[in-house]
Order: sequence, then structure tokens, then C-alpha cells
Amino acid sequence: MSEMKILDKTKLVEFLEKLMPDFEVTVPSYNNGNLSFSSMAHARPEIDFAGRPLVPPKEYFFPQQEEMFTFATKEGKATIKAHINKDKRVIWGIRPCDLYGIKTLDSVFLSRYVDSYYHARRENTILMGLNCNEPCEAGFCSSMGTGPFATNSNAFDLLFTNLGNQFLVEIGSKAGEELIERRANLFATASDEEKNKSNEIEKQCKQAFLYSVDQDRVKAALTKAWDDPLWAEESKNCILCGGCNFICPTCYCFNIEDIADEHEQNSTRVRYWDSCQLGGYTQMAAENTRKTQAERLRQRIYDKFSYVPARHNGAIGCTGCGRCTEVCPSEINITHILGILGRQK
Ligand code: SF4
Ligand code: SF4
Repeated sequence: MSEMKILDKTKLVEFLEKLMPDFEVTVPSYNNGNLSFSSMAHARPEIDFAGRPLVPPKEYFFPQQEEMFTFATKEGKATIKAHINKDKRVIWGIRPCDLYGIKTLDSVFLSRYVDSYYHARRENTILMGLNCNEPCEAGFCSSMGTGPFATNSNAFDLLFTNLGNQFLVEIGSKAGEELIERRANLFATASDEEKNKSNEIEKQCKQAFLYSVDQDRVKAALTKAWDDPLWAEESKNCILCGGCNFICPTCYCFNIEDIADEHEQNSTRVRYWDSCQLGGYTQMAAENTRKTQAERLRQRIYDKFSYVPARHNGAIGCTGCGRCTEVCPSEINITHILGILGRQK
């Protein structure tokens, strides 16, 4: 286990403010009744320690829409300008499931082919995690091995645990260690008693989960569930909104378009999130290769539990965050679907 420090809760804001000359600092806070990540640059948001933001921090690495480059032609000459974002950022309060989601995105965007846009953002961002004292309502991260406490397998530079009046702080990288060393007067060395308190919080949180998923049984069931009637039954109320994909911390599909100005001399290449639950996702010139919503739901589940781990060295395709269940207007519940698969012989 890496070295542990203690930070008084009253000193968290001071610690983060001291980082602001060098970084854009982002924290979870309530805006108009919704918990989301907000910048500390323009106002001092009240930091929330209890909830998990509905929208995961994926958008800081892989934005919902981004301009990749602009290209222009003038007098027969072409110029290209890439828009690589290298802003330095600290994100504080990332939950363990989302730290794992970032690790999955790393497997996708930083492996065989390195995506320069993702790489620049990721390299310039410090991840400060926050362990969970209570499970999310629809979450099942404990059975997926991604939470409620992060381990060395999750991606983090610093990891905070809420002990009440203090945070236990675990150092996960050289970058995280340097940030603490430069503000050493704010931190103390953690005692065994404080570490034991953290272990007790983790134990109690794990016992409080309402849902669990047997990953091994789900994976085994998928080897013979291709033609199962469950796909049609469970997708029959789907309205094809794509919300389950867009809110997911591990979904990474995108579309690309070139948008030209009215004289067609300057164009911008834009990429934006796409969703395998939308009818047009697999539309080809000749036909649509996934014609029914049953096939699209089947794709979503196979992708998360079979294809992503196979393609990306065992990466976790579903962190068990429960967000897809929370946002679905048709009450399609991933733990219900995984439960059916898990009970199959
Ligand atoms: S599939 Fe659902 S539960 Fe799994 S990571 Fe995505 S949003 Fe979370
Ligand atoms: S959120 Fe629900 S209704 Fe929307 S595409 Fe996903 S499963 Fe279908």
C-alpha cells in the first residue's frame, strides 16, 4: 500500500486553491439541483462529499463534441490547424467507478492507436479520487471490482477517503506525491487508527449494496445467449434515445463530420458521441445491419461484458455505476438483464 496522509476537511479548499495558479480545478457541486463537476475558477462552488455526479468526468477527456482540426484552401494551397487541448486540469472527487471508467478509456484511446486528442487531455489532467462511504442507489460496483473503494487497479494520482472531519489521502503517482510535497504543511502522516477507520467504512459500505452481479456467470451465459428471447422482451419499451450510452463512463463510440463554410473554403472536422442504441448507428448504404432494438440491446450487453474485455486486454466494459438504469426513461434496468443472464444454466 502506498503512503497515507491526513488532511483536515477544513483545509481541502485551501489545498485546491493553491493549485489554481497552475491548473483549472474542477470539483463536484450542486448546480440548479443537479450534482455535476464545476470549475473553481469563476466562483467557489460548495464541494459535495456525498453524491456521485450523474454525468461522469469522461467529457474532460473525450468531450461530447470537439473540433479536431480546421482546414482551408486558398489559391490552390491547403492549410490544416489541429485543435489539441493541453489545458492543465485537476479533477477532485472522482468516484472509484469513474476512475475505472477512465482506465477503460485509456485502454481504448491509448493502446494500439494513440488518439492525440485524448492523449493530450489525459496527460495534462491530475485525477483525485474520492472513495464512497455509501453505495449509489442503482450501483453494483462492488461486485464488478471497481468500487466502492479504489485500489491500485483504478487510475488515480491522489485518493481521498472521507473520515468525518478529515480525509485520509493515498498517493497513487509521482505527480500526486509532488503536489502534496509542495504543500506539506497542510498534511500529516496517517495513524493506524485512521487507516483502520477507513477500512471499517469500506466494509460497511460493501454490506449496504442493494444490487450485485455475478460477472463470471454473465460471461458464461453470453456464450449461448445470442438467440435468447430476453433481448426482444427487455428492449420492447426502448425509445432509442441513446441516454444509456451517452451517460456511460466507458462508452466511447463517436461519429465524425466535416462541416464546410458557405463558400466551401474553410472546413472543420468535428467528432461527437454516438450510440449503438440509435437506429442510424449501423445504417449502411445498402442496409441496416442491426434492424431491431433487440439486436441493439444485445450489442450493448455483449460489448460491455464480452467484446471490450476481449479487444482491450481484459478492460472492464461496465463499471457497475448504475447510471444507465438511472437515466433510462423506459425503466430498462441493466441489473435486471444481467440477473436474468446470471440465472441461466
Ligand atoms: S453499462 Fe450502465 S452500469 Fe455499466 S458502466 Fe455503463 S452506465 Fe454504468
Ligand atoms: S436509455 Fe433506455 S430508452 Fe434510451 S436508448 Fe437506452 S435503453 Fe433505450
